[in-house]
Amino acid sequence: MFIKDPCGITCIIITYAAVFYADYVVIKWIVLHTMEGSLWGTLNAVAFNLIIFLLTMSHFKAVISDPGTVPLPQNRLDFSDMHSAESGLDLDWTICTRCETYRPPRAHHCRICKRCIRRMDHHCPWINNCVGERNQKYFIQFLVYVGVLSSFALTLAGYSLSIFFFCADCPSYEKQKDFGRMIAHGLLLIISSIYLMFSVAILTDQLHGICADRTVIERLAKSGPFRPETTKKSRMEDVCGNQPKICWICPCSSPPPDKLRGFVNRPAPHQRPEVV
Ligand SMILES: [Zn+2]
Ligand SMILES: [Zn+2]
Repeated sequence: MFIKDPCGITCIIITYAAVFYADYVVIKWIVLHTMEGSLWGTLNAVAFNLIIFLLTMSHFKAVISDPGTVPLPQNRLDFSDMHSAESGLDLDWTICTRCETYRPPRAHHCRICKRCIRRMDHHCPWINNCVGERNQKYFIQFLVYVGVLSSFALTLAGYSLSIFFFCADCPSYEKQKDFGRMIAHGLLLIISSIYLMFSVAILTDQLHGICADRTVIERLAKSGPFRPETTKKSRMEDVCGNQPKICWICPCSSPPPDKLRGFVNRPAPHQRPEVV
């Protein structure tokens, strides 16, 4: 599922342009000049590109994964008997008049995706998708790798600049006297700092929301938490899965189990047999 939203597509292009620019500066201006011919340079180049690969994988999965779209009914629903549904066990289900369907608790309608999303956190233009029950894990992984890559780039740029300023006797000193190289370093520092600040801020907010069991939408609406009896660990497992912890940062692992939290095996009212 790919949302044709101009803002989202622009944000994705900006993100990849920034990543490829960072890779260009690190390889061309830092590794091939400051660390020329050394094993240390090779190791840094490999590590930097490995993080880019993980970042791209997690971003790709966050973009194309179904965030938890509430299925539409096969036949148009008749809401005239909604009182009979609400009189039973379905007080916590609501009706979306835009999708014309019943939706489980904590599902919200996204105006950009034009569908209801289970446990919708927010619609994020940077992944051009909603952050919901089924892809929040990949969104968090993406933020982690953006933070790691930005920190790595800042470190390498700082190292390279320190040689330029403080290592006048180095053989490569003359080669460092390049205006273009200084511009490249400066831009890398600015871009990395911006992405690091944003990723840390959003990641902190996401982890706080998960531990508090309240999405961004629920915090704005001042509702929840919905499961005060659960622990922070179980809430993290709900989002990231209950596999070994190493899988929580592995973008190759599967998404969390497809279930309606707390409502497993409980179909929507329109999927139930008629009560006579
Ligand atoms: Zn809807
Ligand atoms: Zn959305």
